[in-house]
Amino acid sequence: MAFLPFTRPSIDEETIQGVVEVLRSGWITSGPRVREFEAALSDYFGGRPVRAFNSGTATLEVALQLCGIGPGDEVITTPMSWVATANVILHAGARPVFVDIDPVTRNIDLERIEAAITPATRAIIPVDLAGLPADRDRLYAIASKHKLRVIEDAAQSMGASWNGKKIGAFGDLVSFSFHANKNMTTSEGGCLVLNDESQIPLAEKLRLQGVVRAPDGTMDVDVAGGKSNLTDIAARIGLGQLPHIGAFTERRRELARHYFACFDRTLGCGLPPENFSDSNWHMFQILLPLDQLNISRGEFIERMRQREIGAGVHYPAIHLFTLYRGLGFREGDFPEAEGVGRETVTLPLFPDMSLQDVERVCSAIREIIEGAKK
Ligand SMILES: *Cc1c(COP(=O)(O)O)cnc(C)c1O
Repeated sequence: MAFLPFTRPSIDEETIQGVVEVLRSGWITSGPRVREFEAALSDYFGGRPVRAFNSGTATLEVALQLCGIGPGDEVITTPMSWVATANVILHAGARPVFVDIDPVTRNIDLERIEAAITPATRAIIPVDLAGLPADRDRLYAIASKHKLRVIEDAAQSMGASWNGKKIGAFGDLVSFSFHANKNMTTSEGGCLVLNDESQIPLAEKLRLQGVVRAPDGTMDVDVAGGKSNLTDIAARIGLGQLPHIGAFTERRRELARHYFACFDRTLGCGLPPENFSDSNWHMFQILLPLDQLNISRGEFIERMRQREIGAGVHYPAIHLFTLYRGLGFREGDFPEAEGVGRETVTLPLFPDMSLQDVERVCSAIREIIEGAKK
């Protein structure tokens, strides 16, 4: 039986041929394909200005710089995310302030945000874990009441929506990742949806050494920009992916529905919210009933692997990493995130898998859990 990974990108032949053409063209770094990709993304996001970067992490860093966030500032975020979400705050020289998650959505608990706001708070970075959007109405009501910027870490949200509006088509700064495992990929890459055209020059300077070129061929530098431009090779992959994002999302929803139909709910696993309107089903994550089992999560994943099924852990709670413990965070600070961090397992979910694959995963889980009950 072929190994079923927990995710795999869907790249069609037309895209592969397009990448070959870029490679043969003599221009492989940032150029016409990046400009075309940015224009296509801007169309997708309802005409808002968009700039592309070489990672979602770089995109978040530029967003923080655009907001002028630095030493002395606090940024509120969730401890249940990929560590990039918090690392970029440290990179900016600011302080991450974590707020525990809502155990149902596994996203930042909006009811607890206001208690974490201080005079030093400048921004909130929400994350749409697994592609399930955090409540944008509530979020922006809090941000506007306290005059805070919002940098949406929408790394997992491509194709997701809120009340019928695409994530990215509204709101403050919205950051996406096109890492290979995300719903749409450029192999590595990301994009930032800006508020208006006035932010474009600084965003462009920040992604390429601060350089501004004048029409007469001279250049100047007035800000220490970094190096986070996307290549034309990567942009061409993105141009081949973007037209499929709707179909990818539909397929992921169909597979997720099948998980709910096949999953044995008597096993005691925690299931994600059954949302088929807003979520793009970036991941399907269960929580293991570890207190009822005589195996660890690691052993569970190993038993899945023995049955030729891949599974992932997304994510351990950020504040328990050594770096963050060193900043004073402790076990017990954010119990909901810690619980999810201990019990979560990501099951296979990607457009090219079959409904039979879902059934195979569900039977494997039943077999493993029934065989491991205390
Ligand atoms: C993937 C991801 C990032 C980082 O994106 P990269 O493209 O890997 O730099 C940031 N935040 C979240 C929530 C992510 O899932």
